[in-house]
Amino acid sequence: MVSTAPLKTSKSEAIFTAAQDLMPGGVSSPVRAFKSVGGQPIVFDHVKGAYIWDVDGNQYIDYVGTWGPAICGHAHPEVLQALAAALEKGTSFGAPCQLENVLAEMVIDAVPSIEMVRFVNSGTEACMSVLRLMRAFTGRDKIIKFEGCYHGHADMFLVQAGSGVATLGLPDSPGVPKATTATTLTAPYNDLAAVKALLEENPGEIAGVILEPVVGNSGFITPDPGFLEGLRELTQQHDALLVFDEVMTGFRIAYGGAQAKFGITPDLTTLGKIIGGGLPVGAYGGRKDIMSMIAPAGPVYQAGTLSGNPLAMTAGIKTLEILKRPGTYEQLESTTKTLSDGLLAVARETGHAACGGSISAMFGLFFTEGPVHNFEDAKQSDLNKFSRFHRGMLEQGVYLAPSQYEAGFTSLAHTAADIEQTLAAARTVMATL
Ligand SMILES: *Cc1c(COP(=O)(O)O)cnc(C)c1O
Repeated sequence: MVSTAPLKTSKSEAIFTAAQDLMPGGVSSPVRAFKSVGGQPIVFDHVKGAYIWDVDGNQYIDYVGTWGPAICGHAHPEVLQALAAALEKGTSFGAPCQLENVLAEMVIDAVPSIEMVRFVNSGTEACMSVLRLMRAFTGRDKIIKFEGCYHGHADMFLVQAGSGVATLGLPDSPGVPKATTATTLTAPYNDLAAVKALLEENPGEIAGVILEPVVGNSGFITPDPGFLEGLRELTQQHDALLVFDEVMTGFRIAYGGAQAKFGITPDLTTLGKIIGGGLPVGAYGGRKDIMSMIAPAGPVYQAGTLSGNPLAMTAGIKTLEILKRPGTYEQLESTTKTLSDGLLAVARETGHAACGGSISAMFGLFFTEGPVHNFEDAKQSDLNKFSRFHRGMLEQGVYLAPSQYEAGFTSLAHTAADIEQTLAAARTVMATL
């Protein structure tokens, strides 16, 4: 349980003010800057279980979980203990280490599509590498992605998720050459007809389709019944590859990811976040015939100085060991459903249009009547209301992702009392919106 003493943030403010002269926007990654909700970000001091403490001593119930990795709870004692032991043996070898085999076997056993895996250092790296592989294997340059899906910050994926601009394949960010995004085609999420049309308009040119099988990067959006099945059929008909970006959903939606949950097996999969247990890791894997094209087994070059380092492997292995224990996903599902149902009920009681839901340890709440099937629907949300909700929850001791367009995450450390306190806070805040 966290206390709800009035929020004092003078130390956070001083540190963040200083940071703005030192780093662009004062942060190492943009969404941390609270730009879309307003106000100043709070600066963390330490984390444990379901909680975070800021530099002013305020405690919060955390539903960001360092953007996903903390599914067992922050600073899990078993993970810390394993890391302390690994640390004694050194931080990086730049040479094979047996821990890579252990984590690779765990990933291959868990994720249906993965027969062989390559470890990298971030989700971005996994996605940019998988794209090179898609193109090399098919000998085709074009790919299809979905509006509002995020696949890291590599040039080829930074295509604006807005209608006219999206069709033109215009880059989302200055510095991204037009030529780089000209081969990135976009479709609305859950729109099979749009994907079919793109495949038919570009015969023999589409290397594959990449998507978040459950979206978390434009808020929480689930695939409509038949959508993933349809993509599997369409890609097969056109000899294109199907790639699930499970950087967020891997080991969160189910131990085997969304592909295990929905029973659809893609050709390739990207992973990150949870498989590093809080250290920097990404991975991509899939069919052996495709993965065998990666150097040095094959000609597709991809490398990394710190890839597969023993610390990241250790944190990943221990995290998956904990997740594999009986009852973990049932617990995550029930915790999250109680929270999600509760938030919707509170919104209804307090007279706010809202929709949302949850699967396993992932949830979302949009301030719009809904239903939300794609990014355009998500954009109907009342962003101003979300900002006020976010600030109010912070003042009540609840830390939510500082954007309407992010999913929420629970962990094994969140107790029934934490959920109850969160819902009580939501009732207090929503009554004032
Ligand atoms: C977080 C995320 C990425 C990028 O991973 P980083 O480790 O931040 O580079 C890619 N795809 C999805 C679906 C993500 O959620």
